[in-house]
Amino acid sequence: MKSDVFFVPEKGADIRARLSALLTLLRRIEKDLPYAKDEFIPVKFTIGDSRCIYNIHPEMVKPIIALIKKKKAKPFLFDTNVIYSGQRQNTVDHLNLVQNKGFGAYRIGAPYVIVDGIFGQDGKEFSISSDYIKKIKVPSFITMLDSLLVLSHVTGHILTGFASSLKNVAMGMVTRATKLAQHSSIKPHIIKDKCTMCGYCIVACSVRAISAKSAKAVINQEKCIGCGECICACKFDAIFIHWEDDDDLSTGLPMRAQVDHPDTFDGGVLFAKRMIDVAGFVLSKFKHKFFINFAFDITKECDCISTKTDPIIAKNIGILASSDPVSLDIATLDLINKENPQFRTLRPHGVCNKMLDYAAKTKLGNSKYNLIIL
Ligand code: SF4
Ligand code: SF4
Repeated sequence: MKSDVFFVPEKGADIRARLSALLTLLRRIEKDLPYAKDEFIPVKFTIGDSRCIYNIHPEMVKPIIALIKKKKAKPFLFDTNVIYSGQRQNTVDHLNLVQNKGFGAYRIGAPYVIVDGIFGQDGKEFSISSDYIKKIKVPSFITMLDSLLVLSHVTGHILTGFASSLKNVAMGMVTRATKLAQHSSIKPHIIKDKCTMCGYCIVACSVRAISAKSAKAVINQEKCIGCGECICACKFDAIFIHWEDDDDLSTGLPMRAQVDHPDTFDGGVLFAKRMIDVAGFVLSKFKHKFFINFAFDITKECDCISTKTDPIIAKNIGILASSDPVSLDIATLDLINKENPQFRTLRPHGVCNKMLDYAAKTKLGNSKYNLIIL
């Protein structure tokens, strides 16, 4: 079976051209958004870190909100707090950043709500049927509403190589505990010979897990929460991850013991599988789902950690949308790979493909799609 994926190729990188492309898409998908009068419509959207300048522009969000209001429904933008340092770590600073980045209700036409409490701790806990993660905690509203619209800026990603709709749901629609559980025991180590003791990683670590010892940085593995911030902060490639140290819940064995099982042992694949199982659970709680991917300004890192100096690693593609997040993400990745042969060689090799294969295998969506070019 194939799912429809709508695609408007980018005709220009200025905001007018992008708005025109978005309006073309919205005219086509309007009938696929079955919103009822007075229905609350949660719109998952991240504003990105305070240093990120490549997040989706506020003007691109306005027409989407206007379309929902045209149907007399009640849209609200939402996100959760993050696990690493910065202004999105608690709701007070997060909401100030929302205003500073131009996403205030007056401009956008809908309020922005942080849905997991002041410190990212509020939600309901569920046991889930998964070989890779046993419990997840999600903001309470997730079990109370019928519809969900997910807006995602497509980027690279430090662990999976590709961040899009599925990552947006898996990391952005759970509380802090489940963000940490997905990262689990993926914890970095320092290569002493490469460490210059510049101290950037110490500043970047929100839980103070890194200290200086004998003129080298040292990570306290007990304190480390596996967020990966220090890897981005180190400019000397002195921090790396023993991927094989991660634990596999399906066997209870550390991944190091399973190097003979290539299906399971492959870099960040375990992390990716956790994300897919979490996304599958979250999405199962909504009757009507729709996803829009903005595949332009594709930076090496995701909006959580990219800055204005982050390299753009792929040509702009355009805007894609579907009710099937797997088909949508696969179509997006296919188009990026087609236009940018080097993309598939960027780190981490192959993890995103395996993540999407697993998503299709677990029936979160279809691996095949009809690309409908508008
Ligand atoms: S040591 Fe690195 S991965 Fe661990 S918590 Fe600190 S910044 Fe995150
Ligand atoms: S950022 Fe890298 S080079 Fe600098 S102290 Fe940390 S590990 Fe060493």
